Amino acid sequence: MYHHVKKLMYTVQVGTPDPRFGNMLLEQFGGANGELAAAMQYSIQGFNCEDPGCKDLLMDIGTEELSHLEVVGALIRMHLKPMKTDRAAAEADPLVAIAGGGGVSLVNSVGDAWTADYLKITGDLAVDLRSNIAAEARAKIVYERLISFTDDKGSKQALQFLMTREITHMRAFTAALESMEKPRFSIGIIKPTPGLVDQYFNASTGESDTSENGGSENRKNETLGGEPWTHNSGLQLVDSEIEGGEGLDITPYDPQPGTEVTSKKDSTPVGEDVGERKVKTPGKKLKAS
Ligand code: MN
Ligand code: MN
Repeated sequence: MYHHVKKLMYTVQVGTPDPRFGNMLLEQFGGANGELAAAMQYSIQGFNCEDPGCKDLLMDIGTEELSHLEVVGALIRMHLKPMKTDRAAAEADPLVAIAGGGGVSLVNSVGDAWTADYLKITGDLAVDLRSNIAAEARAKIVYERLISFTDDKGSKQALQFLMTREITHMRAFTAALESMEKPRFSIGIIKPTPGLVDQYFNASTGESDTSENGGSENRKNETLGGEPWTHNSGLQLVDSEIEGGEGLDITPYDPQPGTEVTSKKDSTPVGEDVGERKVKTPGKKLKAS
């Protein structure tokens, strides 16, 4: 059930309206990492969630994002206001000024319509929570960039509030993921192939060129062996056969459902002792009829 409270979550104050900045702010209204996308992603994941605690978290944060949409919408409207009457201001975004009357609609900063394609909803809690952690990181960096493009004190403070909440959400989603008590890399029900899963494939040849203009700062390829993802992570560096290496271990291995570590909080059928799923082959009956 939803209930609207006639009060903004954060009171917005704008000194001098800046229609161009209002246009940039639309990125957080109808953009890929914006508040509507966050609200919809978490809420719909919440509808799908089988675990009551995690469902509650997803619905709480999804609802807060809707409140953020309202706050950022109010901020945008204040900045766009001159577009309603002033030709020069209207030129900052003709689409918003002429088609939208200087108000907000579900478009991003270049006028692309909002789309459900922005959403990441897999129906697997551990996967969805990871998507949400990444989504919060993207929202945070977009707010940070917006902050750097305005001098208006009230706008900066409102954006600071919104940016801060995204890090809070990131922490909550991380805690929820940890509460599943699964090993860090356990996803789904089928364990990856032993051995192969530990192999880091060195798919590059030549020397690293660290300057964009083909300059002199070259780094020997061998130093790749010193990068943390080739040893601290438990991964082993494997060179390609074309470089005289052993290549990846491509020995065929049968998938074994029910072998991966799951959590009680996983959505069904993941988390239950599912074993092999029954595969029905469309057989002779189909052909005969
Ligand atoms: Mn938000
Ligand atoms: Mn958030």
